[in-house]
Amino acid sequence: MSKGLIVIVEDEADIREVLEYNLERESYNVLTAPDGKQGLELIQKKIPTLVLLDLMLPKLDGLEVCRQLKDDAETASIPIIMVTARGEESDIVMGLDLGADDYIVKPFSPKELLARVKAVIRRRILQGDGLPRQRIERDGVVMDMERHEVKVDQVPVSFTASELKLLYFLASHPGLVFTRDRLLNKVAGRDEFIVDRNIDVHIQAVRKKLGHYRYLIETIRGVGYRFKDEGRT
Ligand code: CA
Repeated sequence: MSKGLIVIVEDEADIREVLEYNLERESYNVLTAPDGKQGLELIQKKIPTLVLLDLMLPKLDGLEVCRQLKDDAETASIPIIMVTARGEESDIVMGLDLGADDYIVKPFSPKELLARVKAVIRRRILQGDGLPRQRIERDGVVMDMERHEVKVDQVPVSFTASELKLLYFLASHPGLVFTRDRLLNKVAGRDEFIVDRNIDVHIQAVRKKLGHYRYLIETIRGVGYRFKDEGRT
């Protein structure tokens, strides 16, 4: 039984083949496109379960493909994992800001790729059930949004509203990297009264309050922040 359809948009034939081979072996159906223009058309036609999108592509680059997919209601909710080369941090940030779900940096192992694919699909399924989790427990940290309460090793710690929002947002998307802009939008929204628009300051405050669980919030240099994925070291 197929686990879903994955479209790979990648101009390097050998990478395309490795991706295709590994995904098919895991029972995904795979379609491929060698450039951005064909990729976009294929995705619009097939509405796949997930897209693996190279950023440096002929005809239409990956960021433009991403932008067009997110601008169209028919394709906006298709998860996208960007496939990038080292040193493309600013493109990664732009892609995440546009709404891509995750990214993977070449060269990567098939194992790592499959883990990302599974995590993104699983997360979409979880989000699909509608009810956001009100209570998240991780290591010694318990976040209860209903009660506006965080406990660290069973001791209540006081968080400001924006710190709590930030922590809860990150914790509900473990393993996903968010850029500073996206986090700021989540925390501040259109509220012009947020005193400090520097997200790093809020992150620092949250980490301090998490004490020895501060490792749960990881800095991804040049890109943003991520809540540590369970099981990933
Ligand atoms: Ca490329």
